[in-house]
Amino acid sequence: MRAMSRLSRVDLHVHSEISDGHGSLDAIHEHAREQGLSVVAVADHYDPMDPRRDYDAPARLQAILEVRSLAHSRRAAHAAGAAPDGTLALVGIERGPVSIPGLPQDLDLVIGSVHYLTRPVAARQGDLFNSDFWAAYRDDVLRLALDPQVDVLGHIAGYLPMDPLLNPGSTLQERRAMEREIAARFFDRSWYDALFFRAAATGKAVELHCATRTPGPDEVRLGLGLGVKFSIGSDAHSLDRVGDVAWALDLLESLGATARDIFIPAEAPGRRCR
Ligand SMILES: [Zn+2]
Ligand SMILES: [Zn+2]
Repeated sequence: MRAMSRLSRVDLHVHSEISDGHGSLDAIHEHAREQGLSVVAVADHYDPMDPRRDYDAPARLQAILEVRSLAHSRRAAHAAGAAPDGTLALVGIERGPVSIPGLPQDLDLVIGSVHYLTRPVAARQGDLFNSDFWAAYRDDVLRLALDPQVDVLGHIAGYLPMDPLLNPGSTLQERRAMEREIAARFFDRSWYDALFFRAAATGKAVELHCATRTPGPDEVRLGLGLGVKFSIGSDAHSLDRVGDVAWALDLLESLGATARDIFIPAEAPGRRCR
């Protein structure tokens, strides 16, 4: 049996029924408690700038803010009581590569993920190793690392926005294999250096994305050496995946990381200026 990690178990990337996940905040919170998590963050998709968006953005934001208010009032009630809750529930969003004008400031965290490119690149299906496309991707991630709205750089080397290049019908497993190949070819040491340098300077966390097990040990070691904080996220879209973070904890332990290397959002609402 695996030894208990001395790093606290957190999961800062969970989708609820508000976007494309399952379960309410309460159901996710309960599951996180059962998993012994110290912090769980629901970060539903909210990206009004996304040209491929298929939901009503104001209604989505309204739903997120209601759940956030619920989480904040529960937290206040627990803090006032004699038996504080063992698992802190946070509510934030996962947005895309473009800043959202007027985003409320009292979300607990904002994950920024490059779900699509911000500059047009001529792309055709089957051209998976299009170097212009991946250069644009690298630039978008570097730009996110300077974006004051973003707390966490989400899945930088996994869940890549490769749909425009993909032949239809590829399986999830094939996609993961393609992503590994793309990362090996196009995400070189100098890019990680530049990215981690920026993240450390701006105080942004880089996500350890448990669903794709990325980035890999060499990159995480490099980031730790440069003072980057890492955020642990399952990217769970179903209740049974909430808290599925053993990969990240094992990796951090094996690299000698300490609690200081793990990103935990401040609890207080309204702490940021955006
Ligand atoms: Zn994402
Ligand atoms: Zn996600």
